[in-house]
Amino acid sequence: MKKKIAVLPGDGIGREVAKGAVEVLKAVGGRFGHEFEMEFANIGGAAIDQEQTPLSEKTIDLCKQSDAVLLGAVGGPKWDSLPGHLRPEKGLLKIRKELGLFANLRPVKAFQSLLSSSPLKKEIVEDVDLMIVRELTGGLYFGKPSERRGENQEVAVDTLLYTKDEIKRIVDKAFQIAKVRRKKVASVDKANVLESSRMWREVVEETAVRYSEVEYEHMYVDAAAMKLIHNPKDFDVVVTENMFGDILSDEASMITGSLGMLPSASLREDGFGLYEPVHGSAPDIAGQDKANPLAMILSTAMMLKYTFGFNHEAEAIEQAVDDVLKDGYRTFDLRHTGSRVVGTEKMIDLVVKRVQEDRAIASTMA
Ligand code: NAD
Repeated sequence: MKKKIAVLPGDGIGREVAKGAVEVLKAVGGRFGHEFEMEFANIGGAAIDQEQTPLSEKTIDLCKQSDAVLLGAVGGPKWDSLPGHLRPEKGLLKIRKELGLFANLRPVKAFQSLLSSSPLKKEIVEDVDLMIVRELTGGLYFGKPSERRGENQEVAVDTLLYTKDEIKRIVDKAFQIAKVRRKKVASVDKANVLESSRMWREVVEETAVRYSEVEYEHMYVDAAAMKLIHNPKDFDVVVTENMFGDILSDEASMITGSLGMLPSASLREDGFGLYEPVHGSAPDIAGQDKANPLAMILSTAMMLKYTFGFNHEAEAIEQAVDDVLKDGYRTFDLRHTGSRVVGTEKMIDLVVKRVQEDRAIASTMA
C-alpha cells in the first residue's frame, strides 16, 4: 500500500531520532511491501531560522495533504529569548490546533528487559501497562487572555478555558480505548478547586452511562501523581486535561526508565494523526550521538497501528525494539553495569537490522 508521510524533524535530538523513524519505515516498507513516500519540512527553531516563523503555511499544507505526520522535537536555547509568539514551541501548539489533533495518547508500558533502568522498584514497575489520554487543544496552553499586564509588566495572566464539547470528545475517546483494554478509566482533575474540573466531572458521569462495561473513578491530580509512583499497575486508561496530562506523562516516563522510551500519538476524530516522542529536543545531549531513538521509533509503530491499521507492521517494530533491548543494547540514558552502550545511530541500525532479519526468518519459515 502507498502512504504519504510528512516528516518534521524539528530541532536538537529531534533531527537525530527522526532519522531513525525514516530508516525503520523504509525497512518495514521493504518487508511488508508498502511504499512510504516521505516528504520533509521544517518546524520549530529550524523553521524560524529558514522561514522566519515556527510553522509556515507551506508546512501546514504538506501535513494536511499527507496521510500522517511524524515529528521529532522542537526548541533549544538559541531561540529561548525570542518573544512568545516566535518561540519554537508555538509551532508545536499551532500544528496540533491546525490539524485538529485533540487526543494525545501516551502509552506507558514497562519493558521486561528495562525494569532495572527504572528508578522505581522492580515490583512496582513490572507489568505496568497504562495509557494516558491527554486533551491537547484546550486548557491553559490555549486560553485567552494569556499576557503580561501592569505598568511594569508585573502581572501575568493565563486562562484555563474548556467548552463542554471539547471535554466530551476526549472523555469519549478515553472510554472507547478502555473498552478494548482492561475496561478501567481514571479521570484526573482538580474539582475541589477548579470550575473547569467540575464541568469535566459532569461530562465523565454523562459519558460513563453509555459505557456500562467500563469501570471509572474520579481522582484529584495531586493524588494521581502520588499513585502513579506508588501503584502504577492499578491504572489502565487515565484521561485528563492538557496541562495535567503534560506533567503526569513525564512523571510516568520514569516507569519505563527514560523519557527516551515514551512514544505518543495525537489524533483527530477521523483517525489522522501526528506521531512524536514525548521528550523534547534535549539540547544538553544534541549532536553527541547520545539520544535514545526508541521513543521516536515506537511512535512510528503507533502511526502504523492507529492511522494505517497496519497492526503486524507495528508489532514487527515493537518486537525488533524488544529484541535489541533483550540483547543488552542500551543508549546512554538507559546504561547500567554490563549493558552494551551504543550511540543513536548504532541503535537505529540495530533495530533496522532486526526488522530486516525477521523478514528473512519469516520467509524461511513460509
Ligand atoms: P527534554 O525532554 O528535551 O529533556 C529532558 C531530559 O531528558 C534531558 O536531560 C535530556 O537529555 C533527556 N532526554 C530527553 N529525551 C531523551 C532521549 N531521547 N534520549 C536520551 N535522553 C533524553 O526536556 P527539556 O530539557 O525540558 O526541554 C528542552 C527543549 O525541548 C526546550 O526547548 C523545550 O521547550 C523543548 N520541548 C519540546 C517538546 C516537543 O517538541 N514535543 C517537548 C518537551 C520539551
